[in-house]
Amino acid sequence: MSTTVFRPIPYGRQHITEADVQAVVETLQSDFLTQGPKVAEFEQRFAEYIGVEYAVAVSNGTAALHLCAMALGVQPGQRVITTPITFAASANCVRYCGGEVHFVDIDPATALIDLGKVRQLLEQHPKGYFSGLIPVDFAGLPVNLEQARQLADEFGLWIIEDACHAPGGSFLDSQGREQRCGNGQLADLAIFSFHPVKHIATGEGGMITTNRRDLYEQLLLLRTHGITRDAARLGLPDEGGWYYEMQELGYNYRMPDMLCALGITQLQRADEGLERRRQLARQYDAAFTEVPGITPLAGAAGHAYHLYVIQVEDRRGLYDFLRARQIFAQVHYIPVHTMPYYQQLGWQRGDLPLAEAYYARCLSLPMFPSLSDEEQQYVIDSVREFVGA
Ligand SMILES: *Cc1c(COP(=O)(O)O)cnc(C)c1O
Repeated sequence: MSTTVFRPIPYGRQHITEADVQAVVETLQSDFLTQGPKVAEFEQRFAEYIGVEYAVAVSNGTAALHLCAMALGVQPGQRVITTPITFAASANCVRYCGGEVHFVDIDPATALIDLGKVRQLLEQHPKGYFSGLIPVDFAGLPVNLEQARQLADEFGLWIIEDACHAPGGSFLDSQGREQRCGNGQLADLAIFSFHPVKHIATGEGGMITTNRRDLYEQLLLLRTHGITRDAARLGLPDEGGWYYEMQELGYNYRMPDMLCALGITQLQRADEGLERRRQLARQYDAAFTEVPGITPLAGAAGHAYHLYVIQVEDRRGLYDFLRARQIFAQVHYIPVHTMPYYQQLGWQRGDLPLAEAYYARCLSLPMFPSLSDEEQQYVIDSVREFVGA
């Protein structure tokens, strides 16, 4: 057991370089703090990185989800399917628009929504009973969107891919083509977050990607109050240079120039960060094979490793043991359907047994690009010591 004293080790943290600081300072000294040239530049570069037609920068991932639900026309009475093993926002966006959330249980090997169970559910109801599907690339493991698309086409659903955990992640489709998370080939819309623990960190920030021009235009409108100055869209005769119209009830969900400047420099290191995450995952995998009592979630070639999740019988014991050593592991997630808010809407503990069993044993170990090999070894040694391996 190593006796080195380490700084506290969180489960995730941002990595800010001098280039990041410079980019923000330059923007502070420019003419634009919000809605300047950095917004469009970040959108364009992000779209290129993901391999998608359109990208819309917004104030955070939750705003991204809200605008997606609005753009797809979610309304009271509509039903939308999502997973319980996600951050609450994946489900909440449906509620913002008055829709109803239907949680479907997970595949215990991956903790992703079980698309087989989604199919069973869809087959029990007439077409049109459900409106949409919000799959989540949980921990950075891409959902098989080819299968999801098939369901969506068969049952008339739209898809919002919550790709907050998976920028740069991908899976191989049945034709052997690489499908990058958020590339717009299979989902109608995809969303990302730039919260500090995510791959690209801007403090607050988010992005929506799509290949659908109709949705793209709607998102631009909704992002700024539903207001347009676009001559082609104006209904009434133009009354002068000041003229604009509020055509829909939108929001102020803009991402400021300063943060887009930070996003641009962060994005330049995205591949490097992703490579380091994958290396850390391989090192954890190697360390935990043959450790009885520790079961990592399944990996995959295109995994983006936002999280590295293990499952352990005495999860609470391990969590406390690591904390005493300044290792701040975390639990992702408390199943959303068990939150008091969703219980008030009729969901109960026991409704989704596989998600609840997963929650009872899951723990996310430190996973971020600036985690050093020595720090990781300290984490590994501590976990091993706890299980007596
Ligand atoms: C972080 C996250 C969000 C919300 O993003 P914010 O930028 O924090 O609003 C939504 N879904 C998932 C899966 C997330 O991890």
